[in-house]
Amino acid sequence: MTTFLEPYLADVPAEVVARLRGARRVLAVSHENPDADTLGAALGVAAIVEHHGGRATLISTDPVPPLYAFLQGMDRFVSDPDDAGDYDLLVVCDCGALDRLGGVLQRHEALFERLPRVLVDHHASNTDGGPRDWVDPEAAATCELVVLLAAKLGVPLDAASGAMAAALMAGIVMDTSTFAHPNSTPRTLAVSAALVAAGAPLSDISRRLYRSKPDAQLRLFGRVLDRLEVTDGGRVIHSCLTDADLAQTGTESVHSEGLIDLLAQSETAEVAILFKEAGPDTTRVSVRTKPGGVDATVLTGAFGGGGHARAAGATIQAPLAEARTRFLAEAVRLADAVARPAQA
Ligand code: 5GP
Ligand code: MN
Repeated sequence: MTTFLEPYLADVPAEVVARLRGARRVLAVSHENPDADTLGAALGVAAIVEHHGGRATLISTDPVPPLYAFLQGMDRFVSDPDDAGDYDLLVVCDCGALDRLGGVLQRHEALFERLPRVLVDHHASNTDGGPRDWVDPEAAATCELVVLLAAKLGVPLDAASGAMAAALMAGIVMDTSTFAHPNSTPRTLAVSAALVAAGAPLSDISRRLYRSKPDAQLRLFGRVLDRLEVTDGGRVIHSCLTDADLAQTGTESVHSEGLIDLLAQSETAEVAILFKEAGPDTTRVSVRTKPGGVDATVLTGAFGGGGHARAAGATIQAPLAEARTRFLAEAVRLADAVARPAQA
C-alpha cells in the first residue's frame, strides 16, 4: 500500500515528522462543531504517536456528532484537557484559525499558550502556519496530510484493525464529498487508494456520511429548501434555518449538515448561502461557490470567517435578519463581479 504513496512522501516536512516522532504526551485537538476531517485527523495523529510509544489525549470542545459514532475511536474524545497534565506537544488539526478550537481554548488558555504547538491543516485562509507546521491548501482534507505523515513515520495504515484507515478515509470522504469536489487531486486519490488497500470501507463510509439520514432530518431539509430565495437575478441563492425549525422537526443543529450542499446544486447561483440561527444574537453562515467564481474565503473573511475558496463559513454576532441583510449585500457585490462567457 505504500507504493501508492511513494511519489508524495517527499512532500512531508521533516520537522513535523521529527516533532511527532519525539512527542511522548500529545494533545490532539479538533475544531468546534467537529466534522469527520478534524476528528479523523486527530485520531490519526494519536495512532502515529502511540505507534511510536507515546500517549495521546483527544480533545473536541463540542460533542462528537452521532453521525460519526460508527467510526472506532470516536469515544476517546473529551471536551477538556487536564491543566496539570504533562503534555509535551499540542497538535491542532484542521483549524483554519486558532479560534476554531472553540471554547476549550478560553477554558485552558494558559495550557494552550504554554505548549509547543504544531498545526496540521489545509485551509487556504490559514495565516497561522509557520515553518514548523504543515499547512497545505492543496490537500483536499487534513486527513490526506495525516496519511502521508503516518506513512513517513512508518505507521502501518492498517493499524488498530483498520480503525485508523477508516477514520482517515472518512475525513477525505467528508471534505471531497466522495471525490466530487474540485479539491480532489491525484495525491488525494493515491492516499485514498492506500487507505482502501488497508481495509477502509470506502462505500460504506460514503453512504453513512452522505446518503443516510434520520427522517426528522429529511423533514428539516424540506422546510429549509421550501423557503429558499434567490437574489441578484439568481446569482445568489440562500435560505435560513431557525431554532423553531429544529424544535418543530425534533432535530439538532448538527442535522443541518449537508443542506448547504443541496442549495449549492442550483444551476444558476454563483453563491449559495445558508443562514443558521444560533441563539438570539448569533448567526452561523455557510457558503459554497462555483469554480472560477467568487472566492468564498473573501466573502466570509469580510465577516471574520474563513475556510476554502469553494466552501467557507463565518459566525456573525447579530440576529439572523440583520446578519442576512449585511451578508447578502456583500455576496451580491462579489457575485456581480463574476464574468462568465455567454452560454452557446
Ligand atoms: P461549513 O459550511 O461546512 O460549516 O464549513 C465550510 C468550510 O469553512 C470548512 O472547511 C470549515 O472549516 C470552514 N469554516 C466554517 N466556518 C468557519 C469560521 O467561522 N471560520 C473559519 N476560519 N473557517 C470556517
Ligand atoms: Mn478539513
